[in-house]
Amino acid sequence: MPSNVSCEVANCTFNMQGNRCGADEIMVISHVGGQAREQKETDCKTFQPK
Ligand code: SF4
Repeated sequence: MPSNVSCEVANCTFNMQGNRCGADEIMVISHVGGQAREQKETDCKTFQPK
């Protein structure tokens, strides 16, 4: 499990108390290929809606 991943996405299956991510691992993707330039160009692909 990532030891210190905070996440505010409350409706994700992996979101735990205290806004902690409880997934064994997470995958972060870029929407613009391998080199994102801004924060908004990235996302958590591990997200699963509750
Ligand atoms: S899997 Fe991604 S979206 Fe879900 S709690 Fe973890 S960091 Fe947040």
